[in-house]
Amino acid sequence: MSRIAYVNGRYLPCCEATVHVEDRGYQFSDGVYEVCEVREGRIIDERRHLARLQRSLDELRIRFPMAPAALGVVLRETVRRNRVRDGIVYLQITRGVARRDFAFPPPGTAPSVVVTARNLDAAGNEKTAAEGIAVITVPDNRWERVDIKSISLLPNVLAKQAAREQGVKEAWFIDSDGRVTEGSSSNAWIVTMGGKVITRAADKGILRGITRSVLLEVIEAQGLTLEERPFTVAEAYGAREAFLTSASQIVMPVVRINGRPIGNGAPGTVATALRRDYHRHAESA
Ligand code: PLP
Repeated sequence: MSRIAYVNGRYLPCCEATVHVEDRGYQFSDGVYEVCEVREGRIIDERRHLARLQRSLDELRIRFPMAPAALGVVLRETVRRNRVRDGIVYLQITRGVARRDFAFPPPGTAPSVVVTARNLDAAGNEKTAAEGIAVITVPDNRWERVDIKSISLLPNVLAKQAAREQGVKEAWFIDSDGRVTEGSSSNAWIVTMGGKVITRAADKGILRGITRSVLLEVIEAQGLTLEERPFTVAEAYGAREAFLTSASQIVMPVVRINGRPIGNGAPGTVATALRRDYHRHAESA
C-alpha cells in the first residue's frame, strides 16, 4: 500500500506529493509543525496540539490555514487513508510559496499545509519501555524561542545524530549553567531519591510538550510531589529515576545518562506507573 500525504488540499501518494522549491519551509525553515500520537486509530490530544499549533503560528505571524475543525478532518482522513492504528500523524504549516526574500511574502500568500501519518511499532515501543533507554548530554546551542514548535531543527538533528553515533536513543541539551533543558525531541524528567518528580518549568527554555502537560495531571492524580525547576546533570546522575516524554514515546524510562546507570539501572516504578496511567488522562478523538 502506498503511503498517502495531504498537500495543500489534495491527498496524494507520497511519491507524487511535492512542495514548490520556493516554499518558505524549504528555503528558510519558515514554518511550524505538530506530531500527535495515534492509538487504536484515534488521534490523542488533538485539541491541545491544535491549541499549541495556534500559538506557534501566532508567535511567527503565520495565518492559521483553515478552520481548526477542518484541519481536524484532514488529520483524521490522513490517518484513515494510511490505515494507521498505532503511530503518529505529522502536520506542517509554512508561510507559503513566494519569490525568495528573507522578509515576509506579500499579504494573502497562502500558508502551505502538509500532513502525513504512519504506523509505529507499538509492541517494539513497549519492549523498549520495559528495558529503558540511554541518553547522552550535549550543549544546548539552540535559539531562544524553542517554545515555538518551529521546523528549524538543525541543532536537534545534530544532537540526535550524536546520540545515534554513540549508540543511544536521545540527547539531552544542557544550558550554559550545566542544567538540563530538554531532549532533542522530548522533555526531560528525573525522580529524586526522596520521590519528587522534577522537570524544567515550561518557560522559553523548552517546548511545552503536550505529553508533559497531560503528565502533570497524571502526577497530581497519583498524589506525587512535583517540582517544576531546572536540574543539573550531576543531580540526574544521583536521581532514583529518569525518564522522557513525547507524543511518540509517551513516558520512556531513561536508565543511563552518559554511560552512568541511573538508580539501579532499570526502569523505575514511578516512570512505569506514569506510563501505565497516561492514556486515562489523555483525550482521544
Ligand atoms: N521538546 C522537543 C524539542 C520536542 O521536539 C518534542 C517533541 O517532538 C517535545 C519536547 C515533546 O513534545 P510533545 O510531548 O508535544 O510531543
